[in-house]
Amino acid sequence: PPQGELVLDVQAVRKQFGGLVAVNDVSFQVKAGEIVGLIGPNGAGKSTTFNLVTGVLPATSGAVSFRGQRIDGLASRDIARRGLSRTFQHVKMIPTMTVLENVALGAHLRGSRGVAAAMLRLDRAEERSLLREAERQLKRIGMEQYLHEQAGNLAMGPQRLMEIARALCADPALLLLDEPAAGLRHKEKQALVEVLRQLRSEGLSILLVEHDMDLVMQVTDRIVVMEFGTKLMEGTPSEVQASPAVRAAYLGT
Ligand code: ADP
Ligand code: MG
Repeated sequence: PPQGELVLDVQAVRKQFGGLVAVNDVSFQVKAGEIVGLIGPNGAGKSTTFNLVTGVLPATSGAVSFRGQRIDGLASRDIARRGLSRTFQHVKMIPTMTVLENVALGAHLRGSRGVAAAMLRLDRAEERSLLREAERQLKRIGMEQYLHEQAGNLAMGPQRLMEIARALCADPALLLLDEPAAGLRHKEKQALVEVLRQLRSEGLSILLVEHDMDLVMQVTDRIVVMEFGTKLMEGTPSEVQASPAVRAAYLGT
């Protein structure tokens, strides 16, 4: 999509779990080539919002549009097929397989029903094309030296990048990352920052749920702050940093 074009439009989405309003009519947008951060204290509703956007949970009300088309109500695999890709907070992999195989398998499993069924249906030509795409995406984010390493031997930083490579297969327009910096060392975080900036420069949009304030401040164009299910504020990193309301939400002062 052209720079500045609306990619994700979240309009007054709401999620109630019985009497609890986990997400209270929250609206925000992500434009092409933009990295938007979604932050807030524990229990604020960030993960639930993520799950509403990706179709993992049905919304109680509200609308979600992706590149001008409504996606709320669609199954998560259909949303993924339209070009909205996500990573999960906990890395999913088969530790004895190589990084390349894990990314290829993950790309194939996206939107399909089960591992066994997926593998049985795969013919040689499909397998080769999946491996080619996996290799292309791993190289795109600087993972060429890890292609043939066992995934289980990777440090946390490269594991997270492997997840991102998997989400990049099939060239999504929007990437949703769930706490990609959790458990990373300083140098690994800097490598992640570089990858996110590179992807943005290639025109990808990113929605980032992240606890690491330093990383969020370094890499986002805009930040949406949630508290108790509602949107507390939205602004640039410096606006958010200067906000007394945000400080109060985080520090309880
Ligand atoms: P965050 O990701 O910001 O920490 P969540 O979206 O996980 O917050 O949770 C928001 C609120 O919704 C919390 O009070 C949480 O306990 C509640 N919640 C989340 N998922 C469920 C669920 N499946 N059933 C009931 N309550 C839930
Ligand atoms: Mg969460």
